[in-house]
Amino acid sequence: CGIVGYVGSQQASARPLDVVLEGLRRLEYRGYDSAGVALVGPGTGLETAKKAGKLANLVEELDLHPLDPATAAIGHTRWATHGGPTDTNAHPHVAGRLAVIHNGIVENFASLKAQLVAEGVEFTSETDTEVAAQLIARAYEQTGDLTAAMSAVARTLHGTFTLLAVHADDPSTVVGARHDSPLVVGLGEGENFLGSDVSAFISHTRDALELGQDQVVTITPDSVTVTDFDGQPAQARHYTVDWNAEA
Ligand code: GLU
Repeated sequence: CGIVGYVGSQQASARPLDVVLEGLRRLEYRGYDSAGVALVGPGTGLETAKKAGKLANLVEELDLHPLDPATAAIGHTRWATHGGPTDTNAHPHVAGRLAVIHNGIVENFASLKAQLVAEGVEFTSETDTEVAAQLIARAYEQTGDLTAAMSAVARTLHGTFTLLAVHADDPSTVVGARHDSPLVVGLGEGENFLGSDVSAFISHTRDALELGQDQVVTITPDSVTVTDFDGQPAQARHYTVDWNAEA
C-alpha cells in the first residue's frame, strides 16, 4: 500500500530508519493493516521488524528490540490482499539475505509458488509477495547483481506491482521496479529516496523522478540509474514537486 526507500552515506546511522518511519507516517492516510521495515548496513547485515496493526505497534517493537544503525532502509504499510493481516504476512519478506516489499498483486503467484515448492523452497507467509522475494533471491544467486535479478523477475510477474529490494551484500543500494503501480524517486545530496508517492520524502526533497511503466531503478547515495525490464537505459520524468499541491 505505502512504500518508502532510502539510501545514505557510507556511515551507518539512525537516519535510514528515521526517514522511512517518517515516510510511512506521511503515507498513513492511504489506510493499511500492518507495517514493517528492513535495514542494511556495513557489518550488520539485514535486519527487519514488522507488526500487524498501527505504525505505533511497529515503533513499540523497535523500542523493545532496537535495530542497528544502517545505511539503507525500506519500509512498507500493507493493505492485505493475499493472506490475513498478521505479523508474518506483513512486509518485508525475507529470502536468503534479501528483503522485499511490494504494493499490488502478483496474479500468477500460485503457479510460481507451486513450482518453487516442488523445488524445495519453504514459505513462511501466505502472501503473493513472498513468491517475488524467493524468485529475486534465486536470480541474485546466479548473477550477484540485484538490479539484474529484479529485472529478470519483473519480466515473469503478472499483475500490478511496485517492488523494492535490499540485499545484505550491498548496504549502499536499493532497487525498485514498477508495473501498473507508481514509484517515484526523490533526489537528495549524498542520499536518495524512493516512494509510492512523493509524500514519502516530501520533507527532504522536492527534486523528483517519476518512473515510467515497466522501469527498474537502482539508487545509491550518489547515483540513480533507470532501465527497462531488459536492462536497457531508460528515461524517467524529472520534475519539481509543487509543495502546496503535494504536501
Ligand atoms: N499483495 C500484497 C499482500 O497482500 C501487497 C498488498 C499491498 O499492496 O499492500 O501482501
